[in-house]
Amino acid sequence: MNHTHDPGLRSWLESANDPSTDFPIQNLPFGVFDDGRGRRVGIAIGDSVLDVSACARANLIEHSDAARACARPTLNDLMAADASELMGLRSSVSSLLAAGGTGEEAARKSREAILVPIADVTMCVPADIGDYTDFYASVHHATNVGSMFRPESPLLPNYKYVPIGYHGRASSIVASGTGVRRPLGQTRAADATEPSFGPSKMLDYESELGFFVGKGNSLGDAIPIDRAADHIFGYCLVNDWSARDIQAWEYQPLGPFLAKNFATTVSPWVVTAEAAEPYRVQAAGRGEGDPPPLPYLSSPRDAARGGLDATLEVYILSARMRASGVAPFRLSRAPFSLMYWTPGQMLAHHTSNGCNLKSGDLLASGTVSGSTPDSRGCMLELTWRGAKPLTLPTGEERKFLEDGDEVIMKGYLHADGCPRIGFGECRGTILSSIVPQDEAREEQ
Ligand code: CA
Repeated sequence: MNHTHDPGLRSWLESANDPSTDFPIQNLPFGVFDDGRGRRVGIAIGDSVLDVSACARANLIEHSDAARACARPTLNDLMAADASELMGLRSSVSSLLAAGGTGEEAARKSREAILVPIADVTMCVPADIGDYTDFYASVHHATNVGSMFRPESPLLPNYKYVPIGYHGRASSIVASGTGVRRPLGQTRAADATEPSFGPSKMLDYESELGFFVGKGNSLGDAIPIDRAADHIFGYCLVNDWSARDIQAWEYQPLGPFLAKNFATTVSPWVVTAEAAEPYRVQAAGRGEGDPPPLPYLSSPRDAARGGLDATLEVYILSARMRASGVAPFRLSRAPFSLMYWTPGQMLAHHTSNGCNLKSGDLLASGTVSGSTPDSRGCMLELTWRGAKPLTLPTGEERKFLEDGDEVIMKGYLHADGCPRIGFGECRGTILSSIVPQDEAREEQ
């Protein structure tokens, strides 16, 4: 840890000192913004975006490789940068924004040129994501879902040995705020012998933590568990939208396919591994009688510091709530610290067969659920597959998502003696299906 983590640091930009902000000066997450003058890399501070390339042009920061990478329309070049470059950039930006920092006076003079209100920009998907992999690292989520389908043996025998995952679809990853169309798909109702094709009736969200690959690995070269953390650039929130009825019919024997690849939403700000350093905690640890991880997934460094003390929250805002001015309703609050596998274990496992990861690839944790009913990170678990509907403040019931529902995910990192730093929001509203003309005619 270094001067950028100092809990006593305050910014001359007042909004960064508000205790409720996700973006105090200790955070400094990267994102890609568009203010109408082209996409480029910014850093969130309070209610504003710091235009990093504008800082370089004004000679407020050094013209380093990392600063140059911030003129690009994605974070990929920055993600591929050396750790020392990234540390240097974070250090100079911190000094620029700190009250009493060496760069304060010059930065204040250039304020108009370097700071843009977040409210005035469009935030984009932060990276050109080549590949996306989704894991299943919450043992509580896996146990809950398993017990709905296999009450006698909820956890499959591989769970405590293998960080289970599937290859997701990168092309349909969208930025927070993008509408999500209810997918059409093949489903088979419980009382039917034949499947039918139409809008999903069991649309769900999954609240997850994503992590971006920084430096990648060459094909054939595994990343050892002890070095896995060095390959994580940073973290964001992920909503792995899931059509449960499509999933139930298609998932055997090869896993999820069209039930999940119609959209995945990511939060636009990436909290760097360096910013997250004070919030690292020991890995959750295994229950009594659990097997130890195999040696390639086991390291003292990862066991001691491989977890993250993060909390993920999910809110819903239905169309009726929005129309009546009712505030979003919290559905769950879950601790990331209880995950069975650490991000480092997931990344090391992914490369253990020689699979190459590239800068900008996205890995996600799987649904983050804790041990209590109010910490379940998807509707499938919260309503027990629709058996126990939820009641919203308007009196509306929900078994799964309805058209017009907005799902809002929030998350933050916390540690004793340190300010809370947040991920920002990951939002998406469900849009009604577009039913093909011939099918609509048949139904009439
Ligand atoms: Ca998932």
